[in-house]
Amino acid sequence: MDPRSQDPSTRLRGLANFAGSIKLESRIPIQRYFRSGTEMLRMADVYDKEGNIENVYTLYLKFLTIFVEKIIEHPEYHTLSPAYRSQFNSKIKDVFPKTESLKQKLHHIFQQEYDVYLEEMAKKKQEESLRLEKEMEVLRIRKEEEEKRRQYNEEKEKLMGGVRYQTPPEQFTQLKHDEKAPTFPANNLYPSNQVPSMIHETKASAKEVPGFDRNLKPRTIFLGPSGLRTVVLPAALLVEFISLANSNTISNVETCGILAGKLAHNQFHITHLLIPKQKGTSDSCTTQNEEELFDVQDKHNLVTLGWIHTHPTQTAFLSSVDLHTHCSYQLMMPEAVAVVCAPKYNETGYFTLTTNHGLDLIASCRQQGFHPHPTNPPLFEVASHIQVHPSAPVSVIDMRRI
Ligand SMILES: [Zn+2]
Ligand SMILES: [Zn+2]
Repeated sequence: MDPRSQDPSTRLRGLANFAGSIKLESRIPIQRYFRSGTEMLRMADVYDKEGNIENVYTLYLKFLTIFVEKIIEHPEYHTLSPAYRSQFNSKIKDVFPKTESLKQKLHHIFQQEYDVYLEEMAKKKQEESLRLEKEMEVLRIRKEEEEKRRQYNEEKEKLMGGVRYQTPPEQFTQLKHDEKAPTFPANNLYPSNQVPSMIHETKASAKEVPGFDRNLKPRTIFLGPSGLRTVVLPAALLVEFISLANSNTISNVETCGILAGKLAHNQFHITHLLIPKQKGTSDSCTTQNEEELFDVQDKHNLVTLGWIHTHPTQTAFLSSVDLHTHCSYQLMMPEAVAVVCAPKYNETGYFTLTTNHGLDLIASCRQQGFHPHPTNPPLFEVASHIQVHPSAPVSVIDMRRI
């Protein structure tokens, strides 16, 4: 559906419903939500600078939905220190008036778009009725010709039955000529294999406008109305990561890192590989001291775009523990990717949970540690929105040594 076909109030209500459909997952640590809140405001700033105020408005609405309406339902809400809450409250106070003023601006823009749309529709309707008029005229002429022909044949039959004329009366000569080479205007307007039909037209124009579903993946926080945004991943990041994980890999210990980057022109660019303090085993890796990681991200103005880890002896896939780890990333950021490097097999996998099945199943799975999940339909798939860039630069911050 063309979004311009909605009047401004309906369109604004659509955005509000979309933003308000976010579901809070009580098992995701509350700190993650606050981290996401900070990143949402960071992304809103980028959209604002780029003049994409519809996206700024949607992000602000989501932000307010989470931090004004829903966060108090989180079981950990009461564990937050009053200082922390008041620090966040000042952000909320800042966002409120901005959201209101964006709403006015958007209303104005949507009104203009709606007016243009109505004008276009009126013009289309006029053109259509002109076309129909022409079509009717063609049909009328055709009918007249047929009637004349019928009369001529009738006359001819009558005459043949009686006295046989050597030459037909003059008035039929012209008609006979027409019969051989019809010159109806219709023949110019429509080739013989194209029957004019209004139904046909309507169907074709309905197909032209690709529809989008604003209710796609309501669980996730940042999803834009038009679906997943591309994530650009520098090829150099993989080389760097495999090399700094090498000593662990040799000792059969996993290594993990965070993929962080920036938003620009509705695309994400992974610019940083962050290696947090961590504890690895042969089949798991846990980050430690996340606060330090957040400080680095804030310092460089980064948003979290996924994570990367090694499988020292196995192939590239997502284990049941990996699925749960990735679920928290993907719920916060639908574009988040799980990169798995399997140096022994010279394999790299770029994965996401399937949005129509895996994400919901894992989000509602209460088991911990390694445990089996039903695998059909698939829980994860290769991420199709990742673009590996052959020459984009990457900064590596290894916090294990700080
Ligand atoms: Zn793994
Ligand atoms: Zn599970």
